[in-house]
Amino acid sequence: MTNRLYYTEPYRTAFDATVVAVDLVEGRTHVTLDQTAFYPTSGGQPFDTGTLGGAAVSDVLDREDGTIAHVVSGSPRVGEIVRGAIDWARRFDHMQQHTGQHVLSAAFDRLFGVRTESFHMGTASATVDLAREVSAQEVTKAEDQANRIVWEDRPVAIRFATPEEAANMPLRKESLRTGPLRLIDVEGFDLSACGGTHVSRTGGIGVIAIGGSEKFRGGSRVEFLCGGRALNRFRLWRDSLAATQKCLSVAPEEMALAVERMQGESKSQQRTLRGFQEKLAIHEARALIAKAVPSGDQVVVVDALEGWDAQGLKAIAVAAVAERPNVIVVLFSATTPALVVIARGSAATTDAGALLRGLVARFGGKGGGKPDLAQGGGLSATTSELVAEAKRLIAT
Ligand SMILES: [Zn+2]
Repeated sequence: MTNRLYYTEPYRTAFDATVVAVDLVEGRTHVTLDQTAFYPTSGGQPFDTGTLGGAAVSDVLDREDGTIAHVVSGSPRVGEIVRGAIDWARRFDHMQQHTGQHVLSAAFDRLFGVRTESFHMGTASATVDLAREVSAQEVTKAEDQANRIVWEDRPVAIRFATPEEAANMPLRKESLRTGPLRLIDVEGFDLSACGGTHVSRTGGIGVIAIGGSEKFRGGSRVEFLCGGRALNRFRLWRDSLAATQKCLSVAPEEMALAVERMQGESKSQQRTLRGFQEKLAIHEARALIAKAVPSGDQVVVVDALEGWDAQGLKAIAVAAVAERPNVIVVLFSATTPALVVIARGSAATTDAGALLRGLVARFGGKGGGKPDLAQGGGLSATTSELVAEAKRLIAT
C-alpha cells in the first residue's frame, strides 16, 4: 500500500519518497513510491500533475492493490529517493470544487431530501446528478444555503473511523468500503466518507455558483462552479455581455427584449423585401426575354444573376414563363457554389427536371423537380461554365 500523504496533509505540495517499483505498462513508465502527495483519479476528482525527480507526471492511477502508479516521462531506479512537487494551482482548484460539492450536495439533502447520485469534475465546471428533478426555486435555495455555509468559514475536518463506528454516525451517504473510513466533516453541516482532497475551511471554497440544471435520467444534472472557476465564468459572461451591450446600447436586463424586438423587425423587413422582389421579378423577366435568342420553336433564357436568392430566382423564372409560353429559362445565382432555377412555359419542349439532372451530373450539388419546374444548388463551377453547359444541354 502506498502511504497517501494527501489523506492527512492536503495542503502539502512537495515531498521526498523512495522508489519501490518501476514498471513499463503499454509503453508508459509507472513509478510506485513508498509514499506520495499525488492524488490519483478517483471519486469524481481528476489526478494531480507536477514533477517527480524533475520528470513530468502525466497521469496518476489508483491501483486495485492499494498502491498508486505515477506515469512519468523519466525512468528513476528502484531504491532511489526522489522529490515530488504538485502543480498547486490545479490541485487547489480541485479542492475548491470537491469541497463545494460536499456543501452543495448537503444543502440539497438537508433542504429537500434530494440525494446526490454522482459527481463529475470537468476541466471548466463540475456537475452533480440528483436523484429527482429539482425546480429552479429549489436550485436557488440550495445555492443560497451552500454559500451561507461558505461565508461562515466553517472548519472542514478529516476524521477516521471503523465501519462499526461509522454505522452510528449521521453520514450523508453510506460507504461501501471495508476497513477504516476517511470522513470529511463540514462542521455542523455535513459528514461524508470521501478519499478526495478538500480545503481546510469552507471559506476556501470562495463561492458556489450554479451554472445551470437540466433533466437527466429521471433526476437533474446540476452544473456548478466554485472559487476561481466561478470568477473565470463571470469574466467570460462579463466580456460577452459588454460586447453585446456595445452593439445593442441597452442595459443587460433589457437585452433579451431588445433581441426579440430586433428579430421581429428583421422578419417584417424580410416580408417587405420579398414583396419588392416579386414586383421587380416581372421587370427582370421582361428584360431577359427581350435580349434572348430564339432557338427553333423555343425562346432560350440562360443567365447568372447577382443579388438574388433562390426564392427571387424562382419568382423571375415563373414570371418569365407566364410572360411567354414558349420560353425555357435557366437562372443561376452568381455565387460559388451556385443555385439554379429552371422553368419552362406551356409551349416549350425542354424537360426542366432532366436539364437539372444533367447539370448536377456534370457539376455536383443536388436538387429535383418536374418537367415544367426544377431547382437545385451546390453546383461547383464558374458562371461561364454553367451558362455554356446549360445552353449545350438545351440545344442537344
Ligand atoms: Zn470529497
